[in-house]
Amino acid sequence: MSATIHCPYCNAAREAGEFDGYAPFYVNCEECSRRYIVEPVRSGVVVYRDGEAPCCSDPECRATEMAGSGQE
Ligand SMILES: [Zn+2]
Repeated sequence: MSATIHCPYCNAAREAGEFDGYAPFYVNCEECSRRYIVEPVRSGVVVYRDGEAPCCSDPECRATEMAGSGQE
C-alpha cells in the first residue's frame, strides 16, 4: 500500500512509500523541512500539520496514551 502525499505547508508532493498498517507517522518535508503527520486510511491517506491532528492520529500523543495506560 502506498500513496502520493502532499505537504500541508508548501504542497510539495512525495511518495509515502510502504505503510505499516494504519498507524500514523511523521514525515519531514524535503522542500520546506517541516514535519507533518500522515495517517493511512482505507481510502488513501490523511495529512495533518504537526500539532493539528486529533490525539488518535498523532504518533506522539498515541505513544503518550499507551505509555499511560498501564504497560508497566
Ligand atoms: Zn513542505
